Amino acid sequence: MVYMDYNATTPCDKRVVEEMMPYFSEKFANTSSIYKPAREAKKAQEKARENVAGLLGCLPDEIFFTSGGTEADNWAIAGTALKMQEKGKHIITSQIEHHAVLHTCKALEKRGYEVTYVPVDRYGVVDMDQLEKSIRNDTILITVMHANNEIGTVQPIEKIALLAREKGVFFHTDAVQTVGKMPLKLTESGPDMLSISGHKFYGPKGIGALYIRKGVSIPPLIYGGGQEKGKRSGTSNVPCMAGMGKAAEIALQEMEQDISRVRELRDVLENKIKAGVPEIVINGHPENRLYNTINICMKYIEGESILLSLDFEGICASSGSACTSGSLEPSHVLLAIGLSHEVAHGSLRLSLGKYNTREDVDKVASVLPGIVDRLRQISPFWKDKK
Ligand code: PLP
Repeated sequence: MVYMDYNATTPCDKRVVEEMMPYFSEKFANTSSIYKPAREAKKAQEKARENVAGLLGCLPDEIFFTSGGTEADNWAIAGTALKMQEKGKHIITSQIEHHAVLHTCKALEKRGYEVTYVPVDRYGVVDMDQLEKSIRNDTILITVMHANNEIGTVQPIEKIALLAREKGVFFHTDAVQTVGKMPLKLTESGPDMLSISGHKFYGPKGIGALYIRKGVSIPPLIYGGGQEKGKRSGTSNVPCMAGMGKAAEIALQEMEQDISRVRELRDVLENKIKAGVPEIVINGHPENRLYNTINICMKYIEGESILLSLDFEGICASSGSACTSGSLEPSHVLLAIGLSHEVAHGSLRLSLGKYNTREDVDKVASVLPGIVDRLRQISPFWKDKK
C-alpha cells in the first residue's frame, strides 16, 4: 500500500504507541484521585503538557487538552462569542477554513452573531485589505487558519495577529495542519488562541489542545469535574495525552530532517506529474505552501474516479478534505480560489509524510498518467473539448 493522505491523518509513530501503552492497563488511575497511582498518571499528563508547550515555545499553563482539533476550534470561537457578547457579536474568518470553524460560525449566525467571510486570492492567501476593512467596533474575534488542509497555503498569521492586537480584537488560528509539521514558536505578539490536533503529527486520534495565551480567558463549553483547571471537564485521557506529548517531543527533535526529506519527495512527485499529465492545474501558493502537499485539478475528469482507480492500485489519496470526500459538492476551498465547478471536481490531493519513500513516489508517478488518460477517454467533456 502507498499512503499519501497524511493531511487526513498520520499513522502513530511506534515510539508514541510505546509511550501510551502503560497508561491503559497498568498506570490507569484517574488523575483526579488522591492515591499514588493517580499521582503517577497526573505526572504523565503534566509531562505531556510540558512537551506540547516545549514544541510551541509557550508555557505549559497555556495548553489545555481537548478531544481534538474540532473541539479546540469550537471552544475558541464559541467561547470567545460567549465571553464578548456584551462588546459585540461580529466575527471575521476566511472563506477557506476547515468545517470545524465554518460550521461553528454558521451555528453562531443562527444565534444572532454576524460573520464576515473574507475572500482569498487565487493562491488561497487571505486578502489582508479586506480583512482590515472588515474590522468594526463590534468585532470580537478574527479566526484564520495557519495552513489550509486541502491546498496547503500558509497564511500570514504574524501579520494578522499584529492587526488584531492593534484593533483590540481576539485572534484565533487553527494550526492543526502545522503544529508538529512546521516550526512554529508562539510569542507575546502572536495569536491569542491556537488549535492543535494529535493525529496530524504521528500522535493518536481523539486528542488535541487549545493554546490560550496567558492573560486571555474564555469560558468553558464542557462542564463537569473541573479538569484542565476548570476549563474543560472530563476524565483525563492520559494514554492519548502521553502519546501526543511524545509526538511533540519527537517532532521537536526530528522535524527539520523530516521536512527536507518530505519536501524533496513532494517536489520530485509534483515535477513528474507535471511532466506526465497534460491539462492540469496545481493549486495553492507556489512558495508559501505546506511542504508535503500537492493539490492538482485534472481537467475534464472527476476526482472521485481518480481516487477509485488509485485505490485499485493500492494508493490512498484524497480529493479534498477527508470530510468533504463523498459529497457531490466541489470543495469550498477550490471554489474560493476561483476555480470553476467543472475544474474543481477534478481535484486530487496527495499529502506526503515521513514514512513515504522514493518507491512510493515512483509508483504514483508511474500509474497516474495512465489513469487520467483512461478516464479522459470515457469523459464526454474531454470528447467535447476535442
Ligand atoms: N482543522 C483542520 C485544518 C484540519 O485539517 C482538521 C482535520 O481534518 C481539523 C481542524 C479537525 O481536527 P480533529 O480531526 O483533531 O478534530
